[in-house]
Amino acid sequence: MAAHNRHTILGAGITGLLHAWYAIKRGEDVTLIEKAGRAGGLIHTIHNEFGMAETAANGVINSSLFEELCRDLQLEMVTANKDASRRYIWQDGKLRRLPLKLGDKIRLFAGIAFKDATVQPGERLAHWGARVLGPSAVHSIMQPAFGGIYAGDVERMNAELVLKQRILGKGSMMRQLRLSRKEKKHLQPKQRGLVSLRYGMGSLTDGLARFVRENAAVHYNCEVADIKTLQANWPADRYTLTVGIAGLIPLVKALAREHGWPEPPVAALHSYNLLSVTRFGSDPIVSKKGFGVLFGPEAPLRARGILFNNFIFPGRVHQDNFSETFIYGGAFDNRVTDLDDEMVRQQVEQDRRLLKTDSLPPRHYAIFRWNAALPAYEDELLHFNTWLDQYLPDSIRAEGNFRYGIGLSTILERAWLLNS
Ligand SMILES: Cc1cc2nc3c(=O)[nH]c(=O)nc-3n(C[C@H](O)[C@H](O)[C@H](O)COP(=O)(O)OP(=O)(O)OC[C@H]3O[C@@H](n4cnc5c(N)ncnc54)[C@H](O)[C@@H]3O)c2cc1C
Repeated sequence: MAAHNRHTILGAGITGLLHAWYAIKRGEDVTLIEKAGRAGGLIHTIHNEFGMAETAANGVINSSLFEELCRDLQLEMVTANKDASRRYIWQDGKLRRLPLKLGDKIRLFAGIAFKDATVQPGERLAHWGARVLGPSAVHSIMQPAFGGIYAGDVERMNAELVLKQRILGKGSMMRQLRLSRKEKKHLQPKQRGLVSLRYGMGSLTDGLARFVRENAAVHYNCEVADIKTLQANWPADRYTLTVGIAGLIPLVKALAREHGWPEPPVAALHSYNLLSVTRFGSDPIVSKKGFGVLFGPEAPLRARGILFNNFIFPGRVHQDNFSETFIYGGAFDNRVTDLDDEMVRQQVEQDRRLLKTDSLPPRHYAIFRWNAALPAYEDELLHFNTWLDQYLPDSIRAEGNFRYGIGLSTILERAWLLNS
């Protein structure tokens, strides 16, 4: 057992908090250092008289690990409503669940069942999709979906980086998905699918932060510029850097200089800015119930996606309010975070009227700007990950959404794996 191991964690976003949680449970002597005045990083929940607004993640794919975490922290989990299983993609002015012609649908299903889905070295996501699922699926499904989730452009995204959680070996997509499910059988939850917490995702980061504060040394308002300073001030046997991609680059550059390692391949790395706007009003945006709608880059709206909050999780609004979250930014619109609040409001109303011509006036907005929130999942990020694997010593780890996917379920699984 690691009874006296000292473990210093830099960054108190969800990744740092989860690593701290597991390290404490393992009996390590943990120190957590954060540059902001509070924990949570991107994740926080705002409560107001209209309901609640998530600053970033609105849910997580459930797993036995998440269930255990909620049980331990005494957080009430809520499962997504049945209606939320309906996800739409905007095509030709309509909300469609599978926006493909009959022949393309047959090609899609045949591709899933029979085409070899093995990822080729250096393959871009669009190339992989055209080969496995058919060209129409790339344009009509993959671009809106990956654009909405990863903020990226499938023509430039690296297939290995994005798919490695699911497509690990050889054979058809159906076979590989089955294998990956089998491999992760021990993580199967009691209730499958998307979940959140009664009082929002911020209650998870708040609960974790409370636990860490009670069981470890925590330093807020403390920005660490290089590992040398970190090691001099907080000597430890192990360091975990969970500062996001933008925070990590200067740290590893300084580390490489200090140790005489080759310069990390970061010059071409970039990240995406995102704008998340939760709008409260008196009318639903569409008559259909569902999770929300995604838009391709050629859609006449500027939003990349809209979440229909009333229909996803229970208890997101008070009284007769309706709430939607508009997501902007990413590969095709990275300057969107420069808009001031008034311009953002006008954009949201303009986009909303394209879906609902008789849209009623809003009651309230919650606007969140995130610069460099998500890394671009492109070839350069894969090279950078290879560099991290090759040069970082066992005593220094770098973890976060730039490693194995942006999803919180993956971040949680990695934290559990690396600290068990
Ligand atoms: C709009 C939006 C919607 C999203 N929706 C979903 C979703 O529905 N489901 C999902 O699974 N994921 C979603 N995500 C992604 C998910 O929220 C992120 O992947 C995750 O929160 C990243 O957490 P992190 O701890 O790695 O990084 P961060 O939250 O960025 O935390 C990094 C922390 O490190 C600190 N830091 C940085 N530099 C230093 C330094 N030098 N010294 C000390 N501290 C430092 C920062 O202040 C910060 O607190 C969404 C993201 C966004 C932006």
